[in-house]
Amino acid sequence: MTFALLAITLLIGVTLCYVAVCAASPFGNCRKCSGMGHALKTNRRGQLKRGKDCRRCHATGKRIRIGRWLYNRWARIYRAGTAD
Ligand SMILES: [Zn+2]
Repeated sequence: MTFALLAITLLIGVTLCYVAVCAASPFGNCRKCSGMGHALKTNRRGQLKRGKDCRRCHATGKRIRIGRWLYNRWARIYRAGTAD
């Protein structure tokens, strides 16, 4: 019983923190290019060069957080439903 209560409290806490993060910064760094917006290539001399643009984030280096994405969807549906 105590363990279940603890687990639930922890889960709620983590969820609240995630919601706060989504509200504070709705965009996180792209996981594929880690915020660079493009891949890194090395040329024949071993120097780092800018590679192809990241296709996952369209070279912005940012991705929208799942929580914010869900909120945006919900907000759009809510507005569409309440508009008259
Ligand atoms: Zn990317």
